[in-house]
This record gives sequence, C-alpha cells and structure tokens, in this order.
Amino acid sequence: MKKTKICETCFQTFEAKNNKGIEQRFCKDQCRNEFHSVGRKYFSMQIETGELDYLTAKNVLQKHLLNVKSIK
Ligand SMILES: [Zn+2]
Repeated sequence: MKKTKICETCFQTFEAKNNKGIEQRFCKDQCRNEFHSVGRKYFSMQIETGELDYLTAKNVLQKHLLNVKSIK
C-alpha cells in the first residue's frame, strides 16, 4: 500500500515506503540529514545566545522521552 507524504525538509510530495511501521518523514537521506543538522545547529545557537541553558534542555528532553515511552 503506497502512501503519499510531504517531506518535512523540502516540502515535496513523495511515496512513503512501509518501513517496519516507522513513518517515513523525508523524501531522501539528504533531507533527513539536513533536518537533523538544522536541529542541532538551532539547539547550539539557543545555548550560545542564552535563550536556553544546557541543563534545562536536557531535563525537558528526558521528560519528553519518558512521555514518549509511556504512550507506547
Ligand atoms: Zn525532501
């Protein structure tokens, strides 16, 4: 069963492959890498500009991961 999705990086439509129940969010590896690279840079930028401190980010992330686990 083919499903058409929109890539979260380049916003082009693509046919999602059914990959062991994992939702495909990007049309190609390059888009996935770019997405994560921007995420990391954005995070570093917020630390550098003082908008976010490392410990807060870590705590929020850990809480989020716990929530994600408890949903499953
Ligand atoms: Zn893409």
